[in-house]
Amino acid sequence: MSDQQGELHSADGAMIRARRDLVVGGVLVAAILVLVLSGWRFIGFAQRLLGHGNDATQLAAGDRLLLSGLLLNLALILFGWRRYRDLAAATTQHDLAAARAMTLARIDELTGFLNRRAMASDGEALITQARRQGKATALLTIDLDHFKAVNEVHGHLAGDTVLRAATDIIRRALPASAVAGRLDGDEFAALLPFDPRHAGAIDSIADYIVSALAQPLIARGVTAHIGASIGIARSDEDCQTVEALLRRANIAMQAAKGSGRGRHAWFDTSMERELISRNMIEAGLREGIPIGQFVPYYEPQVDLETNALLGFEVLARWEHPTRGVIAPDNFIPVAEECGLISELSIAVMRRAFIEGRDWSPSLSLSVNISPAQLRDPWLAQKIVKLLVETGFPANRLEIEITESSLFQNLPLAQSIVGSLKNQGIRLALDDFGTGYSSLAHLRALPFDRIKIDRSFVTSINKDPESAAIVNAISKLGESLNLPITAEGIEDGDIRDRLRAMGCHKGQGWHFGKPMTVTATRRMLAERGLLPTARGSQPIDDHGLSARRA
Ligand code: C2E
Ligand code: CA
Ligand code: CA
Repeated sequence: MSDQQGELHSADGAMIRARRDLVVGGVLVAAILVLVLSGWRFIGFAQRLLGHGNDATQLAAGDRLLLSGLLLNLALILFGWRRYRDLAAATTQHDLAAARAMTLARIDELTGFLNRRAMASDGEALITQARRQGKATALLTIDLDHFKAVNEVHGHLAGDTVLRAATDIIRRALPASAVAGRLDGDEFAALLPFDPRHAGAIDSIADYIVSALAQPLIARGVTAHIGASIGIARSDEDCQTVEALLRRANIAMQAAKGSGRGRHAWFDTSMERELISRNMIEAGLREGIPIGQFVPYYEPQVDLETNALLGFEVLARWEHPTRGVIAPDNFIPVAEECGLISELSIAVMRRAFIEGRDWSPSLSLSVNISPAQLRDPWLAQKIVKLLVETGFPANRLEIEITESSLFQNLPLAQSIVGSLKNQGIRLALDDFGTGYSSLAHLRALPFDRIKIDRSFVTSINKDPESAAIVNAISKLGESLNLPITAEGIEDGDIRDRLRAMGCHKGQGWHFGKPMTVTATRRMLAERGLLPTARGSQPIDDHGLSARRA
């Protein structure tokens, strides 16, 4: 119900009240007038009535008239009183309904927090009051991570319960002086006054909320792993309205999400500049994907014993018409955030399958799949369709996924991976060692291979800890019968060390950086890995190969 409706209801109430006062007032005035005007006559009449021993039948005609008047007067007073009582009850009910309407217009029913409108009006008052007291106001926007998955997998009732549980956590963290609201689905906001010299107090509150929401929430028998990212803006930095604070806090919240979620970030102006370039990347993705600006580069993967070429990791590059070749770290996170990752990934894969299908059948292609794609129930079908369309054999394809993909929706990931494995596609666990590196995750999916993250491999000869980790992962692979691929082999010494540890497959700058299809074909031709009949045929890559040397 809106504020406007609430106002209409209270106007109705006032009308009823006015009418009630008029009716009751009229009746009472009439009754009192009659009483006052004929008061002396009533006294005489009463004496006469007593004189007749209360027998009204013996009264004179005038007295009888007087008796009727008296009774009528009493009836009128009685009527006025009844009418007053009824109307008073009706208005109380009406007032209660109007008050409830007013509350509903301000409060979010699910969580009991203020809604966006009320948050804005109460927030402005809070900012003004804080300023008068020499304080600043911080606005926190709190966005639940992975909440959508809870709704999708466990249903909306569980989703609602999780939202209420999250609300309780946020409420507990906030001081009494705070104003808190739910802005939208899984997005909350809180405004709190603070001493601008001690912003650390706000950090502590944000930290508490982040760590409390990182714990599993148990709702309706379902254990939900959510988490939260928080953006904070402060009013004493030339930003005085709730609307402006919200905008800044949202930018900071996106930055917190961008740097790995489960954290808080204060707004600073560099974020605004970043946002502009982010928007440019998003526009570039929308424009560039359909016209083939996003292409696969190929990084050789070799047998560490024999140096034989085993295949390539497919790594996306943006061949920008004016800015040159752009690395994936610049656009993959944006593509993930704005829901374009699937389109991008399919475009790059399609091209890699077409380019790679006539290479030696001994060569595999490894493609990276983002966590966001493993939430798409149609992913397996899309990949299989692509294989059929392009004629690339499923048994030459390996999919690389990271551990973080598994948290968000393990059953869905398992079903996608099951469908892919049924087709003969292999599965690798990427970046092992950087995340949780848990045995449970290794067992949760039928992996064919573990990839050791390059951060350990490149420093294997400089840092004993890295060497110990690589060694431990190699032993783990051995005992689980899972072969290892080491990435980031930058020189021969690293290769030798890995070989000694029992690692048989690797990639890195020592063997070749990611390269264009033209450079890849040149390498393949030198090694006799292109079929001679079609080897010199240029493949259809929309005329781009000429520009990509
Ligand atoms: P990644 O899967 O860990 O890929 C390996 C990265 O290590 C690549 O960076 C590669 O160029 C780099 N690298 C390889 N050998 C060496 C070396 O010897 N030394 C050093 N310092 N680096 C080496 P790149 O191509 O910039 O890719 C970065 C990340 O972007 C990839 O990390 C992957 O997570 C992501 N990515 C790339 N292409 C795609 C894609 O098509 N889809 C998805 N979802 N992610 C992609
Ligand atoms: Ca990879
Ligand atoms: Ca990696």
